[in-house]
Amino acid sequence: MSFRILTGEIEHEANTFSKVPTTLEGFRAGALLLGDEIPAARRGTRTALGAAFEAAEKFGWTLSHPLAARATPGGTVTKEAFEQLCSWFLSGAGGCDGALINLHGAMVAEGYEDAEGEILSRLRSVLGPDAPIVVTLDLHANVTEKMAANASALIAVRTYPHIDYYERTWQGAELVDRSLRGEIRPRTVIAKRPMLEGLDYGRTQVGPMRELIDRGEALEAAGKALVVSVCAGFSWSDISDVGPSVTVTADGDTTEAQRIAEGFMDHAWETRAFVSTTDTTVSVAEALERAKAGEAGADKPLVIADMGDNPGGGAYGDTTDLLRAMIAADLQNAAFHAIFDPAAVQAGIAIGVGNKGRILLGGKHAPEMGGGPLEVEAQIVSITDGCFRCYGPSFLGGGAWRSFGPSLMLRVGGIEIAVISRREQTVDLAQLSSLGIDPFHCATIALKSYYHFRAAFEPIAREVIKVDAGGLGSAAGPRTYRHVRRPIWPLDDIQL
Ligand SMILES: [Zn+2]
Repeated sequence: MSFRILTGEIEHEANTFSKVPTTLEGFRAGALLLGDEIPAARRGTRTALGAAFEAAEKFGWTLSHPLAARATPGGTVTKEAFEQLCSWFLSGAGGCDGALINLHGAMVAEGYEDAEGEILSRLRSVLGPDAPIVVTLDLHANVTEKMAANASALIAVRTYPHIDYYERTWQGAELVDRSLRGEIRPRTVIAKRPMLEGLDYGRTQVGPMRELIDRGEALEAAGKALVVSVCAGFSWSDISDVGPSVTVTADGDTTEAQRIAEGFMDHAWETRAFVSTTDTTVSVAEALERAKAGEAGADKPLVIADMGDNPGGGAYGDTTDLLRAMIAADLQNAAFHAIFDPAAVQAGIAIGVGNKGRILLGGKHAPEMGGGPLEVEAQIVSITDGCFRCYGPSFLGGGAWRSFGPSLMLRVGGIEIAVISRREQTVDLAQLSSLGIDPFHCATIALKSYYHFRAAFEPIAREVIKVDAGGLGSAAGPRTYRHVRRPIWPLDDIQL
């Protein structure tokens, strides 16, 4: 008998401080694939769904794949969008024996602070209490009791930058297979502490996150737990259940699993103030001084990451202060990725490739943070439909096609500037090369990303430095919490 397994994904990380709600249009701008569009787009890629299709072949499953939806992190998902996504997703669940799905874990929808918990509880009621429901998650998930109770297993990625969705999905596929054969009955428990932040924002290179992941993998290898997942949480979601968590999946009895989870969270609590050196920022002036000093004869780029306006954390992606400073410094052989501004793209299209004209760039969403519109006299070098195929290894997926909508590259002095119609952080070299920017031979590349860019850009950089040039993701950005549970560290002074 062939088992029927639900697969698919709904991925969104909610920055509830953003004033731009995430609508269905926001998902369409990212990826919104239905039914047969999904294998065509994901089979053969190193994505979660790419692994699910391969696993289905290995285990002889018939897959139901109603929906793959991903929006760039942004504001709270509208009720209408959430209900439509659930409706599509659950329409494929009827008659399934289990599920192997990919969720982010930090989605917030109107009316549902714990959007993934709601999705999983609806899915559980369709599939029944005994069906294996195995979920891969981002390690920035704000994991909840409701998620742990309704999933059989939660498997968070173990890398930041996240490059192991494929491997984690295979791990999940094995659990689904063993469950269907009656070999195991996975149950998942969770531990948390009163922490808004911690675990070094999820960095997996050194520090507490690395230690706990290693300990978890040792327990898995020794057969003491089926899965141990460590999540750093996402503190830009102003919700009660925000913060780091550890979930442990056991076969049957969960007493020992709960003890393990609590011990891991004790360590997360004790190390809560640990922050990696990669978090250090320098001033924009110092960054540009270093760029200018090293630009002659540079054989590799200096990469300047602007964490303040990182669309990957839900920021608007259109701040201009860093670019303004680069133009004022007259950088040569430099690239800037990117200004999110559909109107500027249209203005550039009207001017035409090869022509020069004046364009107003960005600064529209929150001119008080990171700079208002920047008027430039620019040469339009290239115009594309924004489609490109990812090199990898970022979470966008090596081999997967992505699109940032009508896009252009324009030149102002010695700086090549990408302007895009769909908001996203800079994580793949093809985002530049598809517009005609050669990332390997630039002297300086400025980009909007907090940490994910490192997977692709660190290997080609002579040096990486980080600036905070303002924006919704800025350390100085306005964050007034109203919904997080209190007391909570670091907002409150707590002794445990
Ligand atoms: Zn993440």
